[in-house]
Amino acid sequence: MAIDNLPPLRDVIATHQLSAKKALGQNFLLDLNLTAKIARSAGDLSGSDILEVGPGPGGLTRGLLAEGARRVLAVEKDPRCMPALAEIAAAYPGRLELIEGDALAIDPLTRLTPPIRIVANLPYNVGTELLVRWLTPPEWPPFWQSLTLMFQREVAERITAKPGSKAYGRLALLAQWRTDARIVIDLPPQAFTPPPKVSSAVVHMTALPAPRYPADPAVLNRVVAAAFNQRRKMLRAALKGVAPDIEAHLAEAGIPPTERAEQIGLEAFCALARSVASA
Ligand code: SAM
Repeated sequence: MAIDNLPPLRDVIATHQLSAKKALGQNFLLDLNLTAKIARSAGDLSGSDILEVGPGPGGLTRGLLAEGARRVLAVEKDPRCMPALAEIAAAYPGRLELIEGDALAIDPLTRLTPPIRIVANLPYNVGTELLVRWLTPPEWPPFWQSLTLMFQREVAERITAKPGSKAYGRLALLAQWRTDARIVIDLPPQAFTPPPKVSSAVVHMTALPAPRYPADPAVLNRVVAAAFNQRRKMLRAALKGVAPDIEAHLAEAGIPPTERAEQIGLEAFCALARSVASA
């Protein structure tokens, strides 16, 4: 069943000559039932403003609007996509605002009213950079309530990884300290046009009202970065540069100095960051 009265995305792409550009990481989703499913995975849209980054020809945008988003603010870098997106805005009067520009350089906050959810199918490098920015604001809770983002499957696994796994590292700790992060949809390469080389997954992150365990963000980041920069080393060696008496801090946090970063959970990393910060 059609989700709206607009033309199929294949026709939109043909009409507006939107041949995919590799430099912009363009792998489009053309199945509107799939984009509606991704929109639903973002939670209750009816009472929220949605920030969508990289709408392209508008498949996910249409999913969000058809699923009842209160308002969508969409930021797209490729000027070729704007006429196609304007047609969607006309079909949903007052509910879709478009910004042409680079999401890394634009602050769209003044144009959004809370509660705000972020939904995006972005190129991998842009997505990871924005994710880190959205996870590390100076104040918590952040301006957004949830993030629903498409990643390469491997990156999705790094975000949701648990201690003891190869994927576990900085990204997992950063995400899981202040959000509840889950993989909600798996997508094979063929779901996209053109198909990328690898599989993808949608990760849904809900902002927690407060971080799971107390810690100073800058100190925690320093400790975690040092620990995983030399992930094969024992922590007493990997963390040598973090504090002069690192073995005492490890002991205070209840972490054996011979452990490796991969084995240490979030709670223990936060305890270590508190001990280092108090010195
Ligand atoms: N959301 C559409 C979909 O699901 O079919 C398009 C997805 S495509 C993977 C990524 C989109 O992000 C493209 O339309 C591309 O032009 C846009 N894009 C790439 N870099 C961007 C940036 N820095 N800021 C805003 N949009 C960007």
